[in-house]
Amino acid sequence: MRFLYDFRCDDGHISEEFVAEDVRTSPCEVCGNPATRVICAPRTRLNHISGDFPKATEHWVKKRNKHMALEQKATANHGPDAAWDMNRR
Ligand SMILES: [Zn+2]
Repeated sequence: MRFLYDFRCDDGHISEEFVAEDVRTSPCEVCGNPATRVICAPRTRLNHISGDFPKATEHWVKKRNKHMALEQKATANHGPDAAWDMNRR
C-alpha cells in the first residue's frame, strides 16, 4: 500500500511522493538533497479544497490531475509497477 506524502528538504522545498507507509526520506524534487517526510495523515482530495487559498487549491488540483493522468496512462501501458517506477524517481 502506497500513500501520497509530502517530503520537505533542509531548503524548505516540498515534494509529493507516492511511497510505502514506512518510507521516511526521499530525494528532494527540486535540489536532490534528502527530504524528510512531513508527519501527517495520508492525503485525501478534500484536504486541499479550501476557500482560503484558491490559487493554491487550483494549482494543487491541476498538478494532481496531471499526476493521476500520467499514472493511469502508465498503468494502462505497463501495469501498476510502471506507475510506481515513474513516481519513485
Ligand atoms: Zn530541496
